[in-house]
Amino acid sequence: MPVNLDHSPEVVDLARRTAEFVREVVIPAEGEHSGVSAAGGEELRTRLQDAARGAGVFAPHVSPEFGGHGLDMRGRALVFEEAGYSLFGPLALNIAAPDEGNMHMLEAIATPAQKERYLRPLAGGQVRSCFAMTEPAPGAGSDPAALTTRAERVSAGWRIDGRKWFITGADGAAYAICMARTSGEPGTRGGATMFLVDADNPGMKIVRHIDTLDEAFFGGHCEVLFDGCVVPEEAVLGEVDKGFEYAQVRLGPARMTHCMRWLGIARRAQDIAVARAADRRLFGSRLAELGMVQQMIADNEIDLAATRALLREACQELDEGGHGRKSTSIAKTFAAEALHRVVDRAAQMCGGLGVSTELPIARIAREIRPFRIYDGPSEVHRWSIARRAVRELGGNA
Ligand SMILES: Cc1cc2nc3c(=O)[nH]c(=O)nc-3n(C[C@H](O)[C@H](O)[C@H](O)COP(=O)(O)OP(=O)(O)OC[C@H]3O[C@@H](n4cnc5c(N)ncnc54)[C@H](O)[C@@H]3O)c2cc1C
Repeated sequence: MPVNLDHSPEVVDLARRTAEFVREVVIPAEGEHSGVSAAGGEELRTRLQDAARGAGVFAPHVSPEFGGHGLDMRGRALVFEEAGYSLFGPLALNIAAPDEGNMHMLEAIATPAQKERYLRPLAGGQVRSCFAMTEPAPGAGSDPAALTTRAERVSAGWRIDGRKWFITGADGAAYAICMARTSGEPGTRGGATMFLVDADNPGMKIVRHIDTLDEAFFGGHCEVLFDGCVVPEEAVLGEVDKGFEYAQVRLGPARMTHCMRWLGIARRAQDIAVARAADRRLFGSRLAELGMVQQMIADNEIDLAATRALLREACQELDEGGHGRKSTSIAKTFAAEALHRVVDRAAQMCGGLGVSTELPIARIAREIRPFRIYDGPSEVHRWSIARRAVRELGGNA
C-alpha cells in the first residue's frame, strides 16, 4: 500500500508546538519526580494539563465538539511521538493510556447521554478512567475467550461478578469500562458486553496495587473486584454481546498510539546516547568514531525509522476505515521489540551512566519492557499473523 505522508500545515504546526511544549515545560518537571505514580498525585497531572491547555496542545485526538483537535490516526502519529519524548508528555496532553483509548472508544460507540456523562469530563481532564479486561488465571489474558467475569440481568439492570487484574489507572479513576460475559461459557467465545461502572459503586472495589517493573502509569496497575456490582441498563456501552467486536474498535488504534508514545521516548534515549557518544573520548578517539558504537547508533536509527514506517502504514489503513488487524499486529510486535532494542543499545553506549539514575535511559528501559506483554504479547501477535498468512493462501491454520 503506498503510504500517504502528507500532513496539513495545522497538523505539522501542532506537532512542532507539542515538541516545543514538551522541551520547555514537561521535561523540566521530570526531575521533580521519580515516576508519575509517585509524583504528587493529581497535582502534577492538573498542573501539566493546565499548561498544555494554555499552549493549545491539549487533547489533540478528540473531536472539537469535546474540546480537542480531531486528529486522525496519521496526525496522531506525528503529534503523539513528540508528546512521548517525555514520560510525562502523554499525561500532560491527556493522551496517556488507558484514557486515550477509552476516549477513542466512547467517541465511536457511546450514546449521546453517555458521551456527556463519561466522555466530556474525561476529554476535559476533569476525571480519569480505566479499562478492565484481564483476569487472573484461568480467566481472560492473551486469550479473551477465557473471560470468566459474568453479567446477569437483574430487575435493576445488570449484576457483574468477577475479578480483574493489571487494570491500569484504576486507583483514582472515576469509572471503569468493564468487560463481562453475557453469553456462552469460558473457553467458547460467546458474547461479552462492556459496562460503564462508576467508581463509587459499592460492588466495585480496588483490592490492591500490583507492583510492576514500570511506575510511570498514573493510578498504577490494580486488582479490581466486581462483587454483586449492580449497574443500570444505561451502563451498557454499545450493544449487549458485542463486547469482543467493540474491543477491536479500542485495541487496534490503542496499540498504535502506544507505539507512537514509545517511539517518542525511544528517540529520546537515542538522542541522549548519540550526544554522549559524540562527546566522550576513549582510546584516542570519540566514542562515536568507534565502529561498534557506530553500528549501535545506526541500528537504532534503522529501528526507529522502520517503526515509524510500519506505524504510518497501519494508521493509514485505520484512517481509511479498515480493521488493520494484520498491519496493527505487525506494527505493534515490531515496535515493542525494536524500541526495546533501541533503549537497550542507548544504555550500553552510555556505560555505567546508562544504567544509573543520572540519565533517564534506565528509567525508560524499565517503562518500555512491559509493552511487549500488554496490548497482546508478541507471541500472540505472531500467532495471529502466521494464521492469517496461511489462511490468505487457502490453508486452514
Ligand atoms: C503494565 C501492564 C499494564 C496492563 N494494563 C491493563 C489494563 O489496563 N487493562 C487490562 O484489561 N489488562 C491490562 N494488562 C494485562 C495485559 O493485557 C495482559 O498481561 C496480557 O494480555 C497477557 O495476558 P496474561 O498476563 O494473562 O498472560 P497469559 O495469557 O498467561 O500469557 C503468558 C505468555 O504466554 C505466551 N503466549 C500467549 N499466547 C500465546 C500463543 N498463542 N502462542 C505462543 N505463546 C503464547 C506469551 O509469551 C505470554 O506473555 C496490563 C499488563 C501489564 C503488564
